Amino acid sequence: MRAYTIWLFAILLVLSACSATSNSEESPPDDSEKAETNSDQTAEDEEDQDEGKAKEEDEPKENDDEQEETKSEQKDPEYKMTDNYYIEPIDDADPNVVLLTIDDAPEDHAVEMAKKLKEMDAGAIFYINKMFVDQDGGKEKVKKLHDMGFPLGNHTDTHPNLSDLSEKEQREELAPVYDQIEDITGDPVKFFRAPHGVNTDVSTQMAEKRDALVMNWSYGYDFKPGYQDADKLTDIMLQPDPPGLLRDGAILLMHDRDWTNKALEDIVKGLRDQGYKILDPSLLKTP
Ligand SMILES: [Zn+2]
Repeated sequence: MRAYTIWLFAILLVLSACSATSNSEESPPDDSEKAETNSDQTAEDEEDQDEGKAKEEDEPKENDDEQEETKSEQKDPEYKMTDNYYIEPIDDADPNVVLLTIDDAPEDHAVEMAKKLKEMDAGAIFYINKMFVDQDGGKEKVKKLHDMGFPLGNHTDTHPNLSDLSEKEQREELAPVYDQIEDITGDPVKFFRAPHGVNTDVSTQMAEKRDALVMNWSYGYDFKPGYQDADKLTDIMLQPDPPGLLRDGAILLMHDRDWTNKALEDIVKGLRDQGYKILDPSLLKTP
């Protein structure tokens, strides 16, 4: 009993220390209810990514970087995701939030993007492809993202269109990613995003089994021709009306890309200038 009490006290201490890192900026609520959602947007026509996959399963190396440990803590959920992939308050939380998500990680830019976000006290979910984790240094990158406090989601092994695959092939694309991330981080994977937004019965059932939230997005542009430029991307991501589609609760899709990395700080600043708060993903309800 005494050990239990001490343990509880330690947890309370940790929680009170972490509560100081909330990312809110007080600003007036946005009045936009105008933009039509674009939740069925599934044409994430990124270039195919079938780079060679390294085979070895190295043990994750300890990373002795100086970054402080801010692993995501379990918090009472204040927000939930709607069926058309927006975020809304469960109770009386501020509705003027947006959720940042970074897909196809960790290739060349994810760790740098995470550092910028952390510097700005902005949360995000990074969606992981195992083919990148299997590259040199990939596991260390995943560990860094996790240690900086960013939740990680399963984005499959090789980024296929799951609807083109047999059930067995789909399971082989999905299960090892859940397991690998959990092995590296020690935490279960709470989020799943299908490549190109194409979910299948198999991927949905597997996510349910793993208690992972299936998440597409409200809008994104960095994979589309014409927006692979930091200035153009920043501009469109901050547009409240179509074709931008920024509004309360939007889930913003971005990728591990050079131009997105360059635009990231301006996008976060621009969102906050418009009165949006960047959602701390640990406040989002998962199954
Ligand atoms: Zn993707």
